[in-house]
Amino acid sequence: MVGGGIAGLAAAVRLRDRLPAGARITVYEQSGALGGKLRTGSLAGATVEFGAESFLVRDPAGGDSAAVALARRVGLGDALVHPATGRAALAIGGELRPVPPGTLVGVPGDLAAVAAVARPEPERDHDDGRPLLGPDEDVTVGDLVRRRLGGDVVDRLVDPMLGGVYAGRADQLSLAATMPALARAARTEPTLTGAVRAAQAAAPRPPGGPVFATVTGGMSRLVAAAAEASGAEIRLNAAVRELVPVSGGWRLVVGPARDPELVEVDAVVLALPARPAARLLAGVDVAVGALVGRLDYASVALVSFALPARAAEALPADLSGFLVPAGEGTLIKAATFFTTKWPHLRRPDGTLLVRASIGRYGEEHLLHRSDDELVSAAHRELADLVAGAGGGVPLPEPVASHVQRWGGALPQYTPGHLDRVAAARAALRNAYPTLTLAGAGYDGVGIPVCVRSGETAAEDIVKAWEAARP
Ligand SMILES: Cc1cc2nc3c(=O)[nH]c(=O)nc-3n(C[C@H](O)[C@H](O)[C@H](O)COP(=O)(O)OP(=O)(O)OC[C@H]3O[C@@H](n4cnc5c(N)ncnc54)[C@H](O)[C@@H]3O)c2cc1C
Repeated sequence: MVGGGIAGLAAAVRLRDRLPAGARITVYEQSGALGGKLRTGSLAGATVEFGAESFLVRDPAGGDSAAVALARRVGLGDALVHPATGRAALAIGGELRPVPPGTLVGVPGDLAAVAAVARPEPERDHDDGRPLLGPDEDVTVGDLVRRRLGGDVVDRLVDPMLGGVYAGRADQLSLAATMPALARAARTEPTLTGAVRAAQAAAPRPPGGPVFATVTGGMSRLVAAAAEASGAEIRLNAAVRELVPVSGGWRLVVGPARDPELVEVDAVVLALPARPAARLLAGVDVAVGALVGRLDYASVALVSFALPARAAEALPADLSGFLVPAGEGTLIKAATFFTTKWPHLRRPDGTLLVRASIGRYGEEHLLHRSDDELVSAAHRELADLVAGAGGGVPLPEPVASHVQRWGGALPQYTPGHLDRVAAARAALRNAYPTLTLAGAGYDGVGIPVCVRSGETAAEDIVKAWEAARP
């Protein structure tokens, strides 16, 4: 396993479950800790997520999500907890308004439902008897929604909602990669509102119950439990710098250039972000390296605040957080009210935990400020944005704050991404079946998708290994 994020660890657990007892599994992780974008920290004595915060409970195809299944597999089924509220808001004109219900990442099936935040242009979405997209066509989400419903729906709804997940822009992100159900419906439906309704009708009816879950004690517990359950040897501070096909397997060059370690293995799961993966792949197959290396990433910073108990009078009482459209001109693009959202994080002393998120794709220069500057700008903007929604009391100064920077963190899938991934995987499957790709660089950013991606990569290795056995 190269890469000790959640995809690599899920692959390691799956390999442990599928390979004969005694099989040696090693996870090489370049940093000093496992988990990648999952990192639990502490602020003013409270547990705070400095990276990913929660995951979807259900799989889009029905049943538990792969993340829930992994948590159960590694003994954390009883540690799963759910938000007290999923109510979120959009900051429009400096005022927090409820996110309209019933949209697909902001794309409405019912235009009346979004009237409070955006002005759709219904005349654009006329039925001209042809499906919106050709059979293999992919477009940006912004392109399709602008064309069919006008720019206001993109700028005030879809862009901030997609930005909340990808830190990316609707005008650059692939419809097929970020909204596959809508892309599928758009290949048969002649109107966008019809496609949204068709996608919603095709989804398995949710059984009710919570949509998101997290782990009490933090996401790093899931990381540690997965590492433990995999029984893998964990090698930290062990960057893999070269990958060379050799007879019967692979040679890895691990560690610093001045003192490299050469390791021979039977099979490799590359569970890395696209850039380091592309660098390794370039030495195996230049074309595959180029396909994988096309993927660009957005950088973000998360500013976490611990606020004194009296901040409760300044914050909205029942919101889990809010999103800010880019047109509002603020530095922060989203905020999460952790202690409102998650009952298990509430503190006996009433300390409140809030996290602001900064950075959209193409705005990396905004992150070139000191931590102190980010903290004071985020606090000032947070105070302004909640001013109308709280009890009219100014937001108090934090008792503690923390800035977590994630450089090159969130993949920006442009149109054609899924085809490029399929082509890269097909080329590897033909020439190098014991080398597989997993993680957010390929299949999607959400934790369940990354878990599934790691598990699939592990299954592919098992198949290749079984096929090669005499
Ligand atoms: C700030 C933030 C918040 C998020 N919030 C959520 C959320 O709430 N819910 C959700 O579902 N998703 C969320 N996501 C997305 C999700 O966390 C990620 O997509 C997912 O964790 C990626 O997992 P991964 O294993 O594919 O990659 P990573 O987590 O990036 O792991 C890859 C690992 O490979 C290591 N590595 C790199 N190069 C080498 C090398 N040469 N040799 C060895 N190791 C190497 C890295 O150090 C890293 O540990 C969030 C992402 C970010 C950035």
